[in-house]
Amino acid sequence: MSLLSVEQLSVAIRGDDGIQRELVSAISFAIATGQTMGLVGESGCGKSLTAMAILDLLPKPQALRSGGKILFKGSDLSQLNNKALREIRGHKIAVIFQDPMSALNPVQQIGRQIMEVLKLHFPKQSNAIHRARVLELLTEVGIPAPAERLNAYPHQLSGGMRQRVMIAMALACEPELLIADEPTTALDVTIQAQIVRLLKKLQAKNGMAMLFITHDLALVSQLSDHIAVMYAGKIVEYGPATQIFSQARHPYTQGLLASLPGAGHPPKSPLHSLDGQVPAIDNMPVGCRFANRCRYAQDICQTPPANEVITKQADSHEVVSVACHLWRSISP
Ligand code: SF4
Ligand code: MG
Repeated sequence: MSLLSVEQLSVAIRGDDGIQRELVSAISFAIATGQTMGLVGESGCGKSLTAMAILDLLPKPQALRSGGKILFKGSDLSQLNNKALREIRGHKIAVIFQDPMSALNPVQQIGRQIMEVLKLHFPKQSNAIHRARVLELLTEVGIPAPAERLNAYPHQLSGGMRQRVMIAMALACEPELLIADEPTTALDVTIQAQIVRLLKKLQAKNGMAMLFITHDLALVSQLSDHIAVMYAGKIVEYGPATQIFSQARHPYTQGLLASLPGAGHPPKSPLHSLDGQVPAIDNMPVGCRFANRCRYAQDICQTPPANEVITKQADSHEVVSVACHLWRSISP
């Protein structure tokens, strides 16, 4: 059984005009215990909405889950009451965001903020135990001289240090799944690499699974067991990372890979080197949403391609799926 299983999830936003528009369209993926799935795509493709839907943090009433199921350890999160959901969120599933400043309380010392999390989830433990655990967590995430940092306010720390504090808070409850939404995007490249190494180390130690959301395909390649490539609200390709990197089948994935540094031409900024634009939300094509940017597009592409499951080998359970009418003829 998967730890997290997202089945045909759709998320819609109601505009000021009262019209409901689907921003995430029937996406499916699964994450096994201890594994990492990279959810990759350009900004605005629906990645963060997917994370918010999993955590039941969609901004209501404008945004709503308009279809599908989210199963955590087999139980449907939409069927749980608020209490049960709170228990899972932050305890079994934790989250870190791109901007720790917006997630941290600016007027509370960081030690106290981590204490609050521990108090909430382990109310029976003493203050002394919580304090010791805070120091342990800060040490674990690589904050130097943690005892001196306990009383620091978020603005007194660098961006990288703040993200480490966020990770410490996320780990405070020993989650089984960590959702990391662009956790390194605001950081410079050196710090980014440090945070990625840290997450990998902590994951190996704690055995937690991770949903790593990013626009940076190079980054997910360092982390992920599986990759889902998202485009304009749909998953267009999904499979083991090794498969995606060695044998991308979808023209969009192929384009992303070709834009990576080291792909035989000067590096361009990731995911922004494909010609053309993502279709606007109120002007989604009926057929393949990538068609206006796809050099292989044919008449058949005016009908929507289904996610076709390809099984790599007879002896493998590793499913690969691709949503393209013509993948057979254009595969490398
Ligand atoms: Fe391109 Fe057609 Fe495949 Fe869409 S379905 S990615 S337009 S070839
Ligand atoms: Mg986002």
